[in-house]
Amino acid sequence: MLNDRENNQPQLPKSSDFVRKYLTGIFLMLCLIVLSVFWGFSYRSNALIKTQLLKQGQAFFGEVVITRSWAAKHGGVYVKITPETVVNPYLLQIPGLKVVIKDEDGVAYTLKNPALMTRELSEIAAAKGMFKFKITSLDPLNPTNTADTFEQAALTSFAHGVKEYYRFEQEGDKVYFRYMAPLTTMKPCLKCHAQQGYKEGDVRGGISVSIPATDMLQQIKENRYYITLIALCIVGLIYAIIRYVARVFVGDLNRAEQQLREMANHDFLTGLLNRREAYRQVEEEMGRSARTGRPLAFILFDIDCFKRLNDTYGHNAGDMVLKQLGAKLVSTLRDYDIACRYGGEEFLVVAPETDLKQAVILAERLRMIVSEANFSTDAEDVAVTVSMGVSMLQHSDTIETAISRADVALYQAKEGGRNRVCMAGEAP
Ligand code: GH3
Ligand code: MG
Ligand code: MG
Repeated sequence: MLNDRENNQPQLPKSSDFVRKYLTGIFLMLCLIVLSVFWGFSYRSNALIKTQLLKQGQAFFGEVVITRSWAAKHGGVYVKITPETVVNPYLLQIPGLKVVIKDEDGVAYTLKNPALMTRELSEIAAAKGMFKFKITSLDPLNPTNTADTFEQAALTSFAHGVKEYYRFEQEGDKVYFRYMAPLTTMKPCLKCHAQQGYKEGDVRGGISVSIPATDMLQQIKENRYYITLIALCIVGLIYAIIRYVARVFVGDLNRAEQQLREMANHDFLTGLLNRREAYRQVEEEMGRSARTGRPLAFILFDIDCFKRLNDTYGHNAGDMVLKQLGAKLVSTLRDYDIACRYGGEEFLVVAPETDLKQAVILAERLRMIVSEANFSTDAEDVAVTVSMGVSMLQHSDTIETAISRADVALYQAKEGGRNRVCMAGEAP
């Protein structure tokens, strides 16, 4: 009964909306935490890989410097001349330097200076697909040792006191981690480089090391891909769990809310509307009646001598009668009639589109149904009667004036001997 009217109730914010909002907030927060953790993890592992490359670069540089220092300390080394042996033509320009010597058997040897030795060792390493390295300066004796863009940038920064220089560089389809550190001019170096104005302790060049990094960068990329995938899976899982929790929780909450609304609008004993909710609905009907000019009937009734019933059979029996009477009302009235428990043993029925004649017929029918019914109690079946007052909505009526006229008629019914229907002053 009265479902349409109940749907028109002022809409309170639903707690399920709050729950959805909070769970969405929690979800976003968890996503942020998961993504930050994974981003941090990815950033850290990438940083570790890059640190490893840097350490490798430093180690290679150190090894080359040691080898080179050893060669420089001995003024270079002489090697036997074979068809593959390169004689360094630039050494021939240095006065007093014995570039080629022969032993007593006539076997020829050529001088390998540290720079040439470094380049030849680098070529062997490069041919084996290992790292490459090169001695270079901004003013090399041998043009093949000319600095490339990276090396020029490194050498320029060394002039400003930078101790090492590194970055990734693309060469064709390969990527290299390039590392460079300065070389300090030592005494033996001056034998060849004094003519260029070098002095002991000068930083005029450096050794650059190139480490193949394509595979490593590919691994970093894959690493990032898998980390992102795992993070997204976890976010998806959190989403699914939160959605499930939200569905179950919101379902329970909606049910509890529905129950609360029912309890707030209904009388707990009879299940009929309580007076507050009934008044709200009656006001609506009065507005409709004013617009359409259709009649609206008020029937107020009260159980006769109910106190005696309570006194005789007990309060609990009285409650049982009230409950059954409420059920009879619901089953007798139309869906759009309004029935409420008006007071202790008083009830109000408001019937839309019902004129006085129809209202009296309805009231008589209700009275008959009640008087002919047997109400079961925990003691024994009892019979009760009701007295009724009927009033019709007038133009100038408020809800209170319409009910108070019905109340006057009800009083007359009581005065007239009870178990009867009386009309308020309206003409039938
Ligand atoms: P009348 O015919 O003049 O209406 O007499 P009455 O005894 O019905 O009227 P009265 O006003 O003297 O007493 C009403 C009684 O209704 C008193 C009260 O205990 C009882 N009553 C009110 N509400 C409830 C209720 O919820 N449960 C029960 N069991 N009794 C109730
Ligand atoms: Mg009463
Ligand atoms: Mg009574």
